[in-house]
Amino acid sequence: MTTLVNPATGERIGEVAATGPEEVDAAVGRAARAYERWRWTAPGERARLLRRFATVVDAHLAELAQLEVRNSGHTIGNARWEAGNVRDVLDYYAGAPERLTGRQIPVPGGLDVTFHEPLGVVGVIVPWNFPMPIAAWGFAPALAAGNTVVLKPAELTPLTALRLAELGREAGLPADVLTVLPGEGAVVGERLVTHPAVRKICFTGSTAVGTRIMAGCAAQVKRLTLELGGKSANVVFADADLAKAAATAPYAVFDNAGQDCCARSRLLVQRSVYDRFLELLEPAVRALRVEDPARETAEMGPLISAAQRERVAGYVDGATVAFTGVRPDGPGFWYAPTVLLADSPADRHWREEIFGPVVSVLPFEDEADAIRLANDTDHGLSGSIWTRDVGRALRMARAVESGNLSVNSHSSVRYWTPFGGMKRSGLGRELGPDALHAFTDVKNVFIATEE
Ligand code: NAD
Repeated sequence: MTTLVNPATGERIGEVAATGPEEVDAAVGRAARAYERWRWTAPGERARLLRRFATVVDAHLAELAQLEVRNSGHTIGNARWEAGNVRDVLDYYAGAPERLTGRQIPVPGGLDVTFHEPLGVVGVIVPWNFPMPIAAWGFAPALAAGNTVVLKPAELTPLTALRLAELGREAGLPADVLTVLPGEGAVVGERLVTHPAVRKICFTGSTAVGTRIMAGCAAQVKRLTLELGGKSANVVFADADLAKAAATAPYAVFDNAGQDCCARSRLLVQRSVYDRFLELLEPAVRALRVEDPARETAEMGPLISAAQRERVAGYVDGATVAFTGVRPDGPGFWYAPTVLLADSPADRHWREEIFGPVVSVLPFEDEADAIRLANDTDHGLSGSIWTRDVGRALRMARAVESGNLSVNSHSSVRYWTPFGGMKRSGLGRELGPDALHAFTDVKNVFIATEE
């Protein structure tokens, strides 16, 4: 039994029964049998069911958003976006089944064709920071391509995934096509990784667990997508629109209380505008509304747990604090937005993913220095570049080793464009057409036509 807590109040909101290994085996068995029907279901029918699933989610946006506020402490504005994202992702991949076509390749003496075959049962393992969208980024393309899914939500945040599975059934998805199994990573997650009937693992979470899962998948040459941690750079050149860069920098790192794999938690500012930029940043950070996430005005909520708050505080202790924002008093796992000055790129808070509302700032000299510092990390997930020089923007965008970059913006995710990491931030891509193909194997068939 896992006790669930509202992170904004510390109050118990319910309990969820943890799944044991035998139940995982039984669910995978049922999903494997469901696959034999689902993979041969006419593409148009799969498309219709996914579209209907999107419609049912759309009718429950408010309910899903409120559930996420209570279970995860997300601001109501963010939680609404997240529920809407599930609908949009389902709608987008509902367009896929009839378009998942192979090729005809000219080969003498016969007909050569390729098929995008579904893989079978896919295990989707989800972290606690964005429970709804990350679940949908796994199950929607997997189902569209003809796979069935067994999904494990994070221990702390299973409620919206469980509700989404119910809504799928309400929309008419056949039984066992999408199963949600709450439980521990070491039990449910490990069993999905080692179970021979699970043909692919789609994992989002920490780099430490991701490497362990990769080793586990190797034994069976199991297909794998990894979306892991980040330590992304926000690079501000002297010629940038400094006011806009400073006004939006808090969003870039404090959104979701910094519990965001794309958080631009390393702020690199060109030395000639370093002091000026900090002067502009300070009021923006102090003005951030950190409050009850159920309030419409909330811009930042609490951290997910007391343990996470302790972890974040451990990075700030002993570091040079430039300034902080506000935080409410009282119960709940609150932490004020915090700006740290890095003494050097060797500082622990500069190097490691903190996963909390903390940003470290460091000056740089010129473009070459900015590239060197931005790439001086094991991670490579996201990042921003602020400059008015188009040539520099393109040079930087090519040189920074990161799967997603934005220029003069902090946006990271659009469901129709690819998303994923370089280096130790991951393997493979989610969203867009790339994700769909990652849930299939290409088969080549040659049919001889000569007598
Ligand atoms: P985590 O790695 O601790 O857990 C993620 C999931 O894996 C959970 O469901 C957990 O129960 C499960 N798990 C734990 N041990 C397992 C094991 N041995 N085998 C199988 N499954 C296991 O991560 P978290 O703390 O929930 O999430 C935070 C991390 O996720 C951060 O590092 C963040 O950067 C990363 N993240 C990455 C992306 C991305 O798209 N790149 C998105 C969101 C979060």
